[in-house]
Amino acid sequence: MIKAVIFDLDDTLISEYDYIKSGYRVISKKIKEDYKLENSEEQIYNLMWELFENDSKNVFNRLLEKLKLNYNEEYIKELVKTYREHIPQIEFFEDVMPCIEELRQQGIKLGIITDGYAITQKNKLKVLNAYELFDKIIITDELGKEYWKPSPKAFEMMKEFFNIEYDEMMYVGDNPKKDFYIKMLYPVKTIRVVRNNGVYSEKSYFKGIKEDINIFSFKSLKII
Ligand SMILES: [Mg+2]
Repeated sequence: MIKAVIFDLDDTLISEYDYIKSGYRVISKKIKEDYKLENSEEQIYNLMWELFENDSKNVFNRLLEKLKLNYNEEYIKELVKTYREHIPQIEFFEDVMPCIEELRQQGIKLGIITDGYAITQKNKLKVLNAYELFDKIIITDELGKEYWKPSPKAFEMMKEFFNIEYDEMMYVGDNPKKDFYIKMLYPVKTIRVVRNNGVYSEKSYFKGIKEDINIFSFKSLKII
């Protein structure tokens, strides 16, 4: 019987694209102010998003080049820092809260295991009020980069914290590159949620280990 359901964060509970958009809004404003540009924030934002859609790499450099602005690597670092540390405007996917409430009613414990830069993930979790809604949250980056998924470390900590067996734990994630490999090591029940436009939905499975169950919405998340 499942006693705890642990969720991934990005593209499972929230849209990674929404986060990126939120960060780009902040960066547009900053660039406009720093260079005292006549372009509107909206114009800068739209250009940035267009560049991102073509290629997700070095978007800030390419944006500044496109705008014919001088910059150095220090300034790029400052933009990256601003982006990673901004307080995002994001919310849960619409099927998340009903699901959480239902699980709670069933007496199921709730957790989150998330990779990503610690400050970035912490800001997301605070905005979402996740520290109130979930019993245990592990940001793997706080343990060290070597403990990002597919490392089993955070799953071992969850088992310890909830005092349950691995087969009483369910993990819900989106990323084939790292969310389902745990099954190779422990009998955790794994669920893949396939969101529209997930950033990682096209990746291939790490070491070929697939999820137990595939769903398209939390409405079909069944606890077995
Ligand atoms: Mg994810």
